[in-house]
Amino acid sequence: MLREAGSDGVKYEVIIMIIVIVSSVIMPIKIMLVVRLRFGRYAGKELTKVQKEEDNQKQVQLAQAVFQALDERFPTARCELNYQNPFQLLIATMLSAQSTDERVNLITESLFRELPTPAHYLALGQAGVEERIKSLGLFRTKAKNIMAVCRILVEQFDSNVPADFETLKQFPGVGRKTASVVVSNAFGIPAMPVDTHVFRVANRIGLTAGRTPGQVETQLKGLLPPESWILTHHLLIFHGRRICTARHPDCAACPIRNLCQEKSSR
Ligand code: SF4
Repeated sequence: MLREAGSDGVKYEVIIMIIVIVSSVIMPIKIMLVVRLRFGRYAGKELTKVQKEEDNQKQVQLAQAVFQALDERFPTARCELNYQNPFQLLIATMLSAQSTDERVNLITESLFRELPTPAHYLALGQAGVEERIKSLGLFRTKAKNIMAVCRILVEQFDSNVPADFETLKQFPGVGRKTASVVVSNAFGIPAMPVDTHVFRVANRIGLTAGRTPGQVETQLKGLLPPESWILTHHLLIFHGRRICTARHPDCAACPIRNLCQEKSSR
């Protein structure tokens, strides 16, 4: 009996020793895992944040370099639609959808002389406006929208164009781009209109990676100070029309070739 009791005691001691040894090995491993999980994740987050800030800084420097080079190459960059007041610019920009500025300027030369105010358009009527702009694409839709805008201006704004982006954006046929063109060029309010040239060129250079004009607008605005938005818009359009054209970009003659991400693939 005594011998059995003694061997049981030894067994318990061995079991307790095994438990102590196992827990002394497992606990540190558990602690190490928890620490690595917690602080490893934190370190990962910090690294991503730092990386993002560095990437953004690089993009800001790229935007400044592009802006400077294009400003030197196109010192006369400006809106290429002819106009003498905000109303004429609004009409010219509405007419320019899917038409070249040269074509619009040909039409507006006589149109602005004959119809100087919104009331003149209303007096002439939609058919008369259609007749005068029929050499432009989408002329029926454009005439309809111009009539609706002229009515709003006469009835609600004393025939003046409001200097407010959000108000203009709600007008028939006046979207984000047209409203931006009008407030920036006619009133000097910072805006970044993104047309087909700005969209294509900004993405090609690598300044932006936007799938929509809205995304490109937001990204460009984030890279440059508001006071240079309007000129940047003109510079990118000048560059897109003269050198970085849609089908045949002239990379050999490009003043920002050394800054462009797409040059090697062309
Ligand atoms: S290098 Fe070529 S693709 Fe790049 S901006 Fe100049 S013309 Fe356009």
